[in-house]
Amino acid sequence: MTADRDPAHPPRTPSRPRPIVAIDGPAGAGKSTVAREVARALGYVLVDTGALYRAVALAAHLRGTSRDDGAAIEALAMDLVAKRALTMQARAGQTPTLVLDGVVRTDELRTPDISQGASVVSRYPGVREALLDLQRSFGREGGVVLEGRDIGTVVFPDAEVKFFLTATDERRARRRHAELTDRGVASNFEDVLREVRERDERDAARDVAPMRAAEDAVVLDSSERTVAEVVAVICAAARKNERSD
Ligand code: C5P
Repeated sequence: MTADRDPAHPPRTPSRPRPIVAIDGPAGAGKSTVAREVARALGYVLVDTGALYRAVALAAHLRGTSRDDGAAIEALAMDLVAKRALTMQARAGQTPTLVLDGVVRTDELRTPDISQGASVVSRYPGVREALLDLQRSFGREGGVVLEGRDIGTVVFPDAEVKFFLTATDERRARRRHAELTDRGVASNFEDVLREVRERDERDAARDVAPMRAAEDAVVLDSSERTVAEVVAVICAAARKNERSD
């Protein structure tokens, strides 16, 4: 299904006053920018679920736990959540902040090494399970935009609004490369392209909650669309699912 042929989701009988908006897709498809703009335009809470997987990878790094030791990583993720050492503060219209061990983490989560680490640790079923309730706790009431890989399929299969954003590999790598350069992180395009492909293959091939478009998601290719165009399409779908009473 594409947005061109099916511009809007058929509005469901709304059970929540405001919908859950799920935005999934591969690395560099523009999800973060689009999700932020959509949340701001609608006054919804924004939840960056990738930051949670990145935080598990960072915690493993800080504790010297090998990311290849599945059992140890799963235990670590469960412990972090149980002890509330990993939390996210998400408020309507604001960028969410990720707190790990009592410290707000931003740039540390966004290095190429932690990107790959997140994709490695996110394959472990115990890690996904540990983070599931946390993600659901942000969204249940609606009025929320969640971006990730499995929001429409696993975290909120009943989300009223589901989009899967894609773009060509080159376009996605170019975006990631520009983002890293903007933040003063040295990288070269060929390496970024290889890393983006590696990460997507791993995310799409894993056994648990692989990255894929939900059957009822609208697939949007952002390669030839501006951010404003994509945001407008998603906001329109969300507003159709807002209850007016
Ligand atoms: O979106 P972001 O690039 O921050 O995600 C980092 C990694 O976290 C992804 O490559 C993926 O492996 C994992 N992830 C996931 N499920 C999500 C969000 C992110 O497996 N819902």
